[in-house]
Amino acid sequence: MATATSTSTSSDRLQSFNPASGELVGSVPIHTAADVDAAVARARVAATAWGSRSFAARNEELIAFRRAIAAHADELAELMHRENGKPLGEALTEVLQTLGHIQHATAHAEKALEPRRVSSGLLANFKSTISYHPLGVVAVIGPWNYPLFTPFGSIAYALAAGNAVVWKPSELTPLIAVRVAEIAAQTFALPDLLQVVTGAGPTGAALAKAAVDKIAFTGSAATGKRVMMAAAERLTPVLLELGGKDPMIVAEDADLEKAAEACVFGALTNAGQACISVERVYVADAIHDKFVDEVVKQVRDLKTGGDDGHLGAMTSAAQIDIVRDHLDDAVAKGAKVHTGGTAAISGNFIPPTVLTNVDHRMKVMTDETFGPVIPIQRVGSLDEAVKLANDTPYGLGSTVFGGKAVRGIADKVRAGMTSINSVLAFAGIPSLPFGGIGESGFGRIHGDEGIREFVRVKSTAEQSFSLPINMMSMRQPADLPTRLRGMIKTLYGEGVVAKVGDAFRKLRS
Ligand code: NAD
Repeated sequence: MATATSTSTSSDRLQSFNPASGELVGSVPIHTAADVDAAVARARVAATAWGSRSFAARNEELIAFRRAIAAHADELAELMHRENGKPLGEALTEVLQTLGHIQHATAHAEKALEPRRVSSGLLANFKSTISYHPLGVVAVIGPWNYPLFTPFGSIAYALAAGNAVVWKPSELTPLIAVRVAEIAAQTFALPDLLQVVTGAGPTGAALAKAAVDKIAFTGSAATGKRVMMAAAERLTPVLLELGGKDPMIVAEDADLEKAAEACVFGALTNAGQACISVERVYVADAIHDKFVDEVVKQVRDLKTGGDDGHLGAMTSAAQIDIVRDHLDDAVAKGAKVHTGGTAAISGNFIPPTVLTNVDHRMKVMTDETFGPVIPIQRVGSLDEAVKLANDTPYGLGSTVFGGKAVRGIADKVRAGMTSINSVLAFAGIPSLPFGGIGESGFGRIHGDEGIREFVRVKSTAEQSFSLPINMMSMRQPADLPTRLRGMIKTLYGEGVVAKVGDAFRKLRS
């Protein structure tokens, strides 16, 4: 079974509401710790069978699963639109990107996980091999902002690497996950390969404590730390994709219109509820005013709400309070409001706010806002921009716009990812590993690194023939110390072999 629905030991149900209209979209069970453990036990059986299959056999089913998701694209996007509040176009984009990851993981897993022969160094009589093996059961705990794309950054790669998955979606968006799990159960020969358990924090906490082999968590830094503490009990490894306060730097020689367009998209897509949203902008003094004018002009063309709106409803009411708090704090400390502002907030809809005269005393420049706000700070130099960009405990995405110098600037920004003269592009390229540093978490999804997150590494040393001295023996010749001294000098000191080696390395560097 794909969801633990029928086995739930709880009589309560979790309701999921449309944030745009307030209507009830559906309800799901609240799974208890016993339900979670039972799901993990079923996943363990599926993992044993799935992990022992060839890549070709697994890929056949993963391709069928991809096709099934594609066939249900409209239904899934419509459900996401209703449950999460994002515009239908953004929901369809999310389905498209999710399919891209299923495709990429399926196509690349075998190559990324091919056993590799490596040098045996001094033990030249050995064949040394690194091989990769499925972990078993992977727990995926997801957020509400990208309820499909984000968890599939882990799910697709974990499945392709030969694992079974138990997925705990956000309590704000459980229905989309339940529907995907139903499709998975109809497609995979092993119906427990991808299971969904539903509920709020306690269900997630139960999964973090369960007998799984890895936890891939996406959510806030505060919850990520709780997950890591729970995982410590069993020493379960964790991958943490947490929040961000992503900076954008606009240099004097940037294409203003394109930079403004990227800024508006990067800050406002998904109503600013993206972990890699542009959350703060640093603009060179010489172009600051023109850039602000262009951003304001483009923002004024946008519509919030309605079927044809560019910005949908905020998914979580709690998030609206955070946005309001950041705006109040900024205005109280001297920020200028160009569009939007707290007075424009209506129900669950927040029209985009452009702020200037901002600085790092304000929460809007230091804490994750996660809403449609564009705070723009004037900077005197690119060095100042880099210093301010790095003045954060987070380090997820980043954006730099400008001429040739921007490559150097990009290298100096302390972040897991950077887009140059574009925005958020790194997230749309499946071969690029995705993840952060500092309070943004650790570990990588997507790309070959993302595939290797879900395997254990095995090192094998196989003796091919014997050497006169067997280093792995207690039966050594009496003159061993003398021989070893000779080896040290010859190989690493002033000996001929060492000198030739050094010269060769110098030539290559
Ligand atoms: P959240 O931390 O509130 O919840 C995330 C998930 O954890 C939910 O499924 C929740 O039910 C579960 N959970 C809650 N308490 C738990 C516990 N004690 N143990 C285990 N699980 C528990 O985050 P959210 O509000 O759903 O998502 C928004 C956050 O996610 C933002 O900070 C955003 O930046 C971040 N995010 C990061 C990425 C990334 O890839 N880095 C992607 C999307 C969102």
